[in-house]
Amino acid sequence: MGEEVRIMRLVLLGAPGAGKGTQAKMLVEKYGIPQISTGDILRQAVKDGTPLGLEAKKHMEAGGLVPNDVIIGMMRERLKQEDCAPGFILDGFPRTKDQAEALEGLTMLNAVVNIDVPLDILLARLTGRRSCPSCGAVFHVLNNPSKIEGVCDACDGELVHRKDDNEKTVKSRLDTYTSQTQPLIDFYGEKGIVVNVQGDGKIKKVFANIVEGLGR
Ligand code: AMP
Repeated sequence: MGEEVRIMRLVLLGAPGAGKGTQAKMLVEKYGIPQISTGDILRQAVKDGTPLGLEAKKHMEAGGLVPNDVIIGMMRERLKQEDCAPGFILDGFPRTKDQAEALEGLTMLNAVVNIDVPLDILLARLTGRRSCPSCGAVFHVLNNPSKIEGVCDACDGELVHRKDDNEKTVKSRLDTYTSQTQPLIDFYGEKGIVVNVQGDGKIKKVFANIVEGLGR
């Protein structure tokens, strides 16, 4: 009898600060599939000063989106890599209708998890967020502090306050989300693959709701 192999191709939708990165890390542990965070890939490119990074930097610092063709080309290459064979968790992609349509030409999805958090909570979460550039873990100075201030619990890396997590840029990012990304909830809703989860509860509770939703 052959072993059943379940391929899990997931998208995490949700505004900046909804908890996509945090939940993605927990899904990686549970399902053994990679997290693909376009934001993390772009931040690394900015740090390395590559042509992609130089192009992306100005859009990221303004709280806008990196052009679709750049992002779609980047994801086309990433999804071809071997580690994606058992599936993947897309965190931060797609963010526009053009990206969602392009993704349809690249792969099939099993589910789209929409993490819903009220806007006023998002603002507080993002401005208090601390991120680990080495492993991508995220903390919050009040809601989810690291054990040692400024040090990542997972890898001992130095935590940073992301440059685009200041109040002005956060407001632009939330506007960008509302105008460009939120319509994707209906786009995928029409395909019947959306799992809606309230994202303003405790991290573990949100995770349990995601896993339960995916099982349905
Ligand atoms: P994130 O870490 O997901 O909040 O992404 C940080 C920034 O990277 C965003 O504000 C955008 O400027 C850029 N970015 C990330 N993912 C995408 C995407 N799919 N399309 C366009 N820009 C993106």
